Parts: sequence; C-alpha cells; structure tokens
Amino acid sequence: MSVRRVMGIETELGITSTQVDARGELLTPMLLSGQVVRAYAAGAGPRAAMPTGSGWDYADETPLRDARGYEMARALADVSQLTDVEDPTVANSVLSNGARFYVDHAHPEYSSPEVTSPREAVRYDRAGELVGLAALRTLAQEGREVRLYKNNVDGKGASYGTHENYLVPRSIPFERLARQLIPFLVARPVIAGAGRVGLGQVSERPGFQLSQRADYLEAEVGLETTLRRPIVNTRDEPHATPHVHRRLHVIVGDATMADVTTLLAVGSLSAVLRLVETHPDGVPDVALADPVQAVRQVSHDPTLRATVETVDGRRLTGVDVLETYLEAVERAVASGHDAWRPDDDTTEVLTRWRQVLDALRRDPAECAGQVEWVAKLSLLERYRERSGAGWGDPRLAAMDIQWHDLDPQRGLAQKLRAAGRLERLMPEGAVAAAVTEPPEDTRAWFRGECVRRYGDDVRAASWDSVVMLDERGRLRRVQVPEPTAATRERISGLLERHTRTATLLTELASEDV
Ligand code: ATP
Ligand code: MG
Ligand code: MG
Repeated sequence: MSVRRVMGIETELGITSTQVDARGELLTPMLLSGQVVRAYAAGAGPRAAMPTGSGWDYADETPLRDARGYEMARALADVSQLTDVEDPTVANSVLSNGARFYVDHAHPEYSSPEVTSPREAVRYDRAGELVGLAALRTLAQEGREVRLYKNNVDGKGASYGTHENYLVPRSIPFERLARQLIPFLVARPVIAGAGRVGLGQVSERPGFQLSQRADYLEAEVGLETTLRRPIVNTRDEPHATPHVHRRLHVIVGDATMADVTTLLAVGSLSAVLRLVETHPDGVPDVALADPVQAVRQVSHDPTLRATVETVDGRRLTGVDVLETYLEAVERAVASGHDAWRPDDDTTEVLTRWRQVLDALRRDPAECAGQVEWVAKLSLLERYRERSGAGWGDPRLAAMDIQWHDLDPQRGLAQKLRAAGRLERLMPEGAVAAAVTEPPEDTRAWFRGECVRRYGDDVRAASWDSVVMLDERGRLRRVQVPEPTAATRERISGLLERHTRTATLLTELASEDV
C-alpha cells in the first residue's frame, strides 16, 4: 500500500482563440470550451468517447441489494425519466480510458480516471494533454484555431483549478486530517510547484514564485473552490459508498507538465495521508502560526531561504517542513507496519522525494530536470541574461504562459521534454495508450470498456454508475459504488460474454434472483 491508493487528477485548461462571431466579437470561453469538448468526441470516434449530454448526474439511488459476484451493486434502477434528453448547452463526455472531458467554469476540463498509484496518475494526467491536443487538431481541420494551456493562471487575474482526488477512509476524523495536512500543503510547492511569473493575484509586483495557486488561496479550511479558496477543501462528494469512503478534494496544487513533479506531488501527499491514517501520533507537529500567509512566504522565495513560523515559535523553511514529514514517513516504513510494506511505487516516491530535497538544499538549480518551477526559472533566467529583461517585462509573462501550451510546436515545457532536459518517467507510447485504454485495476475499467464496446447502447456514465439500454429499450443504471470493483480481473469475462448491453443487463439482473 503505502503510497498506493485510489486517486485522480482534474485539470481545467486555459483557453484562447481569435475566433469571432457574426458581429465580429470574440467567442466566449464557454462557447470555445464547448467546441473543444465536442471536437474530441467527434474526432476520436464514437467508440473512444461518448457524449453524455445531460446524462451525467449524481442521483442518489440506494443499491437494491448488496454487492455480490461481480462486485458491482446489482442496482439496475430504471432511469428512463432522467436522461436521454440532449441538452445543447451541455458539453460532457466520457472517454474509453474512463476519463471525463467536459466544460466546467468556462474551461475544458479533463478529469482523469481513477488510478491506484502515483505513476499511473502521472500517465493518465499526461494522457489528458493528448486528449486536448487531439481536439485542437480536429478543430484546426475545420479552420478553427484554439489554444489550450495546462496551467492555473491566465496572467490577467483569473485562476482555474487543478484538483487532486484521494480516497481516504471515512473513519479518519476530518478535523485532524486537515490540521495534520495543512503545513505539508503549505510547503509542498517547493517540490511540486509549476512556477509563475508575477507576484499577487493580478501580478501587481514583478517577480517569480514557486506556485501558480499560492496568491489565490485565502482561507485555511472551507467549502469554496472558486472564492475565498481554502488550503483544505471540505467538499464532500465521495462518488463512492459514503459511509465507508471520503474523497479528499485538494484544490491548492498546480497543473504540472513535468512527470517527476506530478509524481512527487501526488506521491508525497499520498504517503502523508497514509501516515495520518496509520500513525496519527507520528505525524509531525509543525502547526503554523499563519498558514495562509505562509503559503505566500514559501511561494515567493525561489532561494528557499524564507522561513515560516510555527505555533510553538520555531522558524522553518519550506524544505525543513517537507523534510520533517519525509522523516516521519521513513520512520513509518522502518517500523515494519503492515500498511508500509515497501513496494516499487513507494520506494520510487520516497527515493525521489529524498533526492530532490537534498539537491534543493545544495542548489535548487540541480533539480532543473525534475522540479517544474526550477526548470521554468532556469529557462527564464537564461533569457533574462541574454536580453537584460527585468521580471516586469511582458515577454517573460508571455513565456510563462507559453510554457504550458499543449501544442508541442509551441509549448516550452514540451520542447524541453522532447530535448531530454525535462525527465520523462515513461515512454510516450505508454502515455498514448492511456488516451484510449482505461486503468485495469479500478471501476474506470468497466466504465471505459462499456464506452468502447457498446457504443450507443451506453447512454451516460458517472464515476459510480453507467446507464445503458435494456432489452425493452429502457435505460437502466448499473452502480459501481466501490472504486476498486469492476476491474479487468473481476469482470472481463462478463463483458466478453456480451456484445449488447441488453443481454449484459439480463445477466446482471438474474444475479439478483
Ligand atoms: P468539480 O469539477 O466541480 O470539482 P468534482 O470534484 O466532482 O467536481 P470531476 O471533474 O467529476 O470532479 O472529477 C472527479 C475526479 O475524482 C476524477 O479525477 C476521478 O478519477 C476522481 N475520483 C472519482 N471518484 C473518486 C473516489 N471515490 N476517490 C478518489 N478519487 C475519485
Ligand atoms: Mg471537475
Ligand atoms: Mg473537482
């Protein structure tokens, strides 16, 4: 286990275009985002993506029976009245890799399928870049030029989110979870920030900082995700059996282009969560005097020397805080506790975490191939040396945005990746496969395979259910409340036996009798 758990990353993409309407006005981001999402569904073919119209809903239906057999709840609710109405204002699709690609807050958003390891989180997050790119290519064939950016700030004062989602047991008291997590989240940009040109929400002061999101965080704990954004978000929609699971919704992180940065972000957090779960007394007590201010102090200092104050009067750097957590994790591993039996994923994350912290202490520039803010800063510093540009120079702000461009011909991070200067954790072929193939070890496999195999017979899907046609043409919802149920191992035989959802549903229903 250790760093392994159910997780998924959502990314709202920045979007721009010079397209105008009949009156010569620029198209709104909402309309553009709709174009992008529909273009992917159209271009990738009906079996790679399913537009779900208004079908995505979270209607709460209690399973009729306990899960048996295939580990899916046998709740075949009749939902004919709920769906099948195409709403043209809704752009929402479910992909054969189990992801969701839709419009949220006037941005196209790729929500990765549920995976069970940090490495798979990296792979499916990267696959989202290819999904966006494929949509752009389809639009380009129609003569529409749109640009997408995997970042979190538009340079004009707006910020949009990258949300990480982690399955945690409901039994962990949330108040303790939040308290033990806050100092870690404050310091995490040291190893997980994507870097940003400009200080302040509208870049009112020139400079460079570690995190894209820091200046937009305004509270310690709260429900909001777009106003008064909190360090710990209390949104409680588990998309899973609610009395067993909680889905921790982390909104403070940056979208990342660098594989190792993404791995460190989700891997370290997952390890800290495991610590919170298994060693409540072993989590370091580094409660901060003013966490919201500390977020900015850490982010605004690329020399990594700035300190933040703890409640008990210590002054620690961001690296110190992260090292305190890492040491606690290393102690838990050494304790031989069952939940900490070393596996390859855990070893990889902990080794990388240790290497990066040690290198950052010596000289941050050593991490230019792994830590995204360092990579971005190194590139911008070289440009500054050549051009003499100050941090307030608009060319640097433009390079910051271009860093995140999804088009490989333009995107600066992608160019560094291609040149081997930004380390890749997997071959590009593995990323490409993740665009169409679902993870095998979560319910995303069932969702994605239904989309791929059954075409129009599948009408809608949510994280915990798939709606399909039965033999009488009615819509029925198959529920999958357990994220690690309906995996390839469990149900490939079932799906192999059926070429139509009608007979599949009949077999599922007969299990109930
Ligand atoms: P919003 O877009 O408004 O933030 P949301 O947080 O419900 O809504 P979605 O865009 O639907 O988000 O994405 C949910 C993400 O959570 C996906 O990446 C998915 O893989 C992941 N996920 C779904 N169920 C769980 C779960 N039970 N535990 C952890 N992650 C989950
Ligand atoms: Mg979302
Ligand atoms: Mg979310």
